[in-house]
Amino acid sequence: MASKRVLIIGGVAGGASCAARLRRLDEHCEIVIYEMGSYVSFANCGLPYFIGDVIVEENKLMVATPELFRNRFNIQVFTDSQVLAIDRTSQTLTIKNQLTEQTHTDCYDALVIATGAQAVWPDIPGVDLPSVYALRTIPDSRKIRADLEKMRHAIVMGGGYLGLELAENLKKRGLEVCVLQSSGQLMPTLDKEMARYIEQHLRENGLECRLNAIASAIELNPDQSLTVQLQDGQTIRTDAVMISVGVKPRIELAQQAGLEIGELGGIRVNENMQTSDPKIWAVGDVVEVRNTVSGQWQLFPLAGPANRQGRLAAAHIADNGRQIYAAATPYRGVQGTSVCGLFGLTVAATGLTEKQLKQMGMTDYEKVYLHPGNHVGYYPGAKPIRMKLLYHCRDGRVLGAQAVGEAGVARRIDVIATFIQMQGTVFDLEEAELCYAPQFGATKDPVNLAGMIAANQLRGDHPLARWEELMDSHVQVVDSQTEQDEAERLLALILDDPFQQAQLIDVRTEAEFERKHIPGAINIPLDSLRQRLDELSTEREVWVVCGVGLRAYNATRILQQHGFLVKNLSGGMQTYDVFEESAS
Ligand SMILES: Cc1cc2nc3c(=O)[nH]c(=O)nc-3n(C[C@H](O)[C@H](O)[C@H](O)COP(=O)(O)OP(=O)(O)OC[C@H]3O[C@@H](n4cnc5c(N)ncnc54)[C@H](O)[C@@H]3O)c2cc1C
Repeated sequence: MASKRVLIIGGVAGGASCAARLRRLDEHCEIVIYEMGSYVSFANCGLPYFIGDVIVEENKLMVATPELFRNRFNIQVFTDSQVLAIDRTSQTLTIKNQLTEQTHTDCYDALVIATGAQAVWPDIPGVDLPSVYALRTIPDSRKIRADLEKMRHAIVMGGGYLGLELAENLKKRGLEVCVLQSSGQLMPTLDKEMARYIEQHLRENGLECRLNAIASAIELNPDQSLTVQLQDGQTIRTDAVMISVGVKPRIELAQQAGLEIGELGGIRVNENMQTSDPKIWAVGDVVEVRNTVSGQWQLFPLAGPANRQGRLAAAHIADNGRQIYAAATPYRGVQGTSVCGLFGLTVAATGLTEKQLKQMGMTDYEKVYLHPGNHVGYYPGAKPIRMKLLYHCRDGRVLGAQAVGEAGVARRIDVIATFIQMQGTVFDLEEAELCYAPQFGATKDPVNLAGMIAANQLRGDHPLARWEELMDSHVQVVDSQTEQDEAERLLALILDDPFQQAQLIDVRTEAEFERKHIPGAINIPLDSLRQRLDELSTEREVWVVCGVGLRAYNATRILQQHGFLVKNLSGGMQTYDVFEESAS
């Protein structure tokens, strides 16, 4: 019997992992990769660090070469070979050798599309000027590195993960860098208040971040510098513009072959990564995937999913209907786990954000904020982790988490990600048995703490107030300084604001309260609360705030057991600060 011929279009994350896995499962099939670039299996995730000279030798980015594929895996790789068309009837591809311009056809028994994604270019005048760059490939990185000498200032258009990684690395190379973000927050994949920590940190590290800044044109100046025009009429002079406003699946081949494309513009696949044609599989940035938490289709262009999907498609192809490899491993979908490092700050997330929950119309979720140290405070060098946990009110199922901090962030999000994948609840987080010694964590790890706060809330021991409700009541007056303003504000609250129903007490010390407090808050330090209960009305809700939420929790327990209707503002003043900034 003739051996099966498997062709793979695209030889980087998804395509290369599919090819290697397939060979491990099937020693006898023919495997051929067509890659239109000059390299296969390169580490595109490392490219920003190659720009920043963190990775100095280019060859470190080459995970595997065509020779390695041939010698170790008996896989043929054709680089500089662009697939122009898929003919599903004859099961053939048309391929153009980009060096010789010659075309030829090749036939397949199984085909894998792993063509990835391409950079979205804003449709504005000037984007084709020579000093406008996008970073996707090794040649892109070479070009930027070669031109760095001519640059003193660069604009990074787009404040998502890739744009910010690039901005950091350009800054490290001595450039002045300005990040333009079209919306009101950096890292739109996070919730706005969590993104505030990143903005602060980037500004502290010398990056200029302009929010709600949309470029309308790029112009070339006589001295070869560029002027970027913004929609609001402002202009910025720069030497280079890096485009990083997003990516879109590279679906032209699939479209032309009549494969089903989803509403988000990616190839539709089943749980075996099979397209609408059972002889064709698709993996990586080019496909739409199901979000395991929301159940909705999503584009999720990251390397981990691309690699796993490549492996899975290989198992299904090798399986050939025998149900040996694939039966046990239908693709589980993505849950949105990601991480990014910026000037020593780690930003990580998993599951859904509150923004996504709202977009889905979901209302029966709850959230907690907390700021635990990455390890116990008495061991030197503890750093706070800013965390937000989202969970289902009905059963406590964990829906998502975001964390920002200088140490221990990725570990906590990875743990929560694992619980989400196993349908875990906040009660599971509460009970998780995690590593502890003073330099690594705490007897109550940040993951446990997040679970405990949430579980206490669900059990009714620890009712939580939402910051948004408080901010809505105060937002117009947070800047008022004078006594007159304050008196008017309080009057307004009492007359027509729903928040006047609640009494806001701040249980920090007097000195902390003096330094900064929420307008309208009454200071009753925790240690004197039991003696001052008669100052509070049992007729109105009591909302409690402290530094990070712990003293307020203790106050909540005291007040609840003395018959007060009480709620804690989780995360305390450290969360208030970012909400206040978001509101301004
Ligand atoms: C600068 C940068 C940094 C990144 N950092 C991270 C990170 O830190 N973490 C993370 O998870 N992800 C990161 N990513 C994203 C990650 O690299 C992608 O999600 C992953 O590479 C997707 O794999 P893929 O196989 O689908 O596509 P790709 O790896 O993009 O490979 C697709 C290949 O298909 C080839 N191709 C396309 N069309 C054709 C055709 N017609 N004929 C032949 N070949 C074709 C392309 O040339 C390309 O090489 C980063 C990406 C970039 C660009």
